Amino acid sequence: MSTSVIWFGNDLRLVDNPAVNEALRRSDQVVPVYIHAPEEAAPWSPGAASRWWLHHSLQSLADDLGALGTSLVIRCGDSATVLRDVARASGARTVYWNYPIEPKLRQRDRRVVQTLTAASIRSVRCGGARLFEPGSILTAADTPYRMFTPFWNNCLKRGFGTPPAAKPSHWKHSEPALSTVPLEALELLAKTAWDAGLRGQWRPGEAGAHDCLERFCGQAALDYGDARDFPAKSATSRLSPHLHFGEISPRQVVARMHEYRAQQPSPAVTATVDSVLRQLGWREFAQHLLFHFPHTSEAVMNRRFAGFPWRRNNAHLSAWQRGQTGIPIIDAGMRELWHSGWMHNRVRMLVASFLSKNCGISWTEGARWFWDTLVDADLANNSLGWQWVAGTGADAAPYFRIFNPVSQAQKFDADGDYVRRWVPEITALPQAWLHQPWRAPIETQRASRCVIGVDYPAPIVDLTASRQRALATYRRHSAG
Ligand SMILES: Cc1cc2nc3c(=O)[nH]c(=O)nc-3n(C[C@H](O)[C@H](O)[C@H](O)COP(=O)(O)OP(=O)(O)OC[C@H]3O[C@@H](n4cnc5c(N)ncnc54)[C@H](O)[C@@H]3O)c2cc1C
Repeated sequence: MSTSVIWFGNDLRLVDNPAVNEALRRSDQVVPVYIHAPEEAAPWSPGAASRWWLHHSLQSLADDLGALGTSLVIRCGDSATVLRDVARASGARTVYWNYPIEPKLRQRDRRVVQTLTAASIRSVRCGGARLFEPGSILTAADTPYRMFTPFWNNCLKRGFGTPPAAKPSHWKHSEPALSTVPLEALELLAKTAWDAGLRGQWRPGEAGAHDCLERFCGQAALDYGDARDFPAKSATSRLSPHLHFGEISPRQVVARMHEYRAQQPSPAVTATVDSVLRQLGWREFAQHLLFHFPHTSEAVMNRRFAGFPWRRNNAHLSAWQRGQTGIPIIDAGMRELWHSGWMHNRVRMLVASFLSKNCGISWTEGARWFWDTLVDADLANNSLGWQWVAGTGADAAPYFRIFNPVSQAQKFDADGDYVRRWVPEITALPQAWLHQPWRAPIETQRASRCVIGVDYPAPIVDLTASRQRALATYRRHSAG
């Protein structure tokens, strides 16, 4: 009789989970374990929004396992010690898990393997979070790609491999049941009502992930190619937290996209599918970059920008975090983030550009705030996104690309639906001033009950002057 342990991490699903499948295939009994050890990921332990998601996702996984007749064992403590103890207590000879790419978690995994090996327990690490494993997509010179397009072309040449695996029909559960701590003991939920906005918007867990994908295929996807840049339209999938927590695999999303194209063959659907696959390509690229360049969550990728003279300005940073910069599209994005744990990609780019370029504050400060407030906070995607906008990363936007939040808002939120939703102070302003209320004549401000400096803040920086200053600083730094 062979017993194994399956150790869950950011792969909180039962279907198309390589470690689950391997453990079930090769063992007579399988013990499912989750270990709460946030300090092992420090300084990138899950932020408040991620903890909220994790609580509900673990509950969902425990319920799904319960429906298969087994119990999720939850423990706290040093992962290596807990796994060794659980394996010994259950008589398991092998521990299976899907390996992470985050640098701290890779270090932890090395300790886990050493501890298990010393206890004569086998470690089997599978790859389940990506379409292509790091190291499998390299340039002709066997080096990692630093540019997205050739990376993605190489991926596309390889194709998407095997289809996703089916759901396990039953669980080979083990006796006797092991002790577990209650989910509440992990204290993942906030003690205040801060998470009320999250509850209304999201359904964490494997079933919620599939609902989300089906909803997207049902209507939004038809519009994705044209509408994905417009924050007022709900045209993107919102799969990012589900993908981050591994409640759905990218392979499952790809398979569903191919099915969708086969069911509704039309140029619009083909364009959508290609476009979604390309976004998943960016996710792959981010993960491969973090794997090959593990310092990039903390430090610039492009060494030319090491020692860049970022400014320290707590008042500006705090205004940005609270959505009180006086620039409606920036404030709308930051308030959406606080309220819902998510922000539209176009607006993420705008708020990141505003903080790092107009305010001159280091992208690492912004990445930290995102880390605490995003339900999809993901070290690879977040680092890539911030470095891309700040111009310090791989395949980054050139430094002289400084988004103008007013013209971007006029283009991507022309009707003002997005800013009106999140910045009620400006709703009565005529359309012409909606994205730049400080320019409205004082009589108009009064008539609209939006007096700048009284009802809504004046811009914390002058957009033109701050742009010039950023350009000059970047130019000097790039040259020297
Ligand atoms: C400054 C900044 C920070 C970001 N931080 C994160 C983060 O912490 N976590 C995160 O998942 N994404 C992050 N992104 C990328 C992107 O904004 C989100 O993935 C996207 O908005 C999620 O919405 P969606 O699921 O509806 O995306 P869709 O448009 O429906 O895309 C499908 C999936 O593709 C992936 N994807 C899409 N765009 C990107 C991208 N630009 N880079 C990498 N993967 C992408 C996501 O997994 C997404 O769920 C960041 C972008 C920026 C500019």
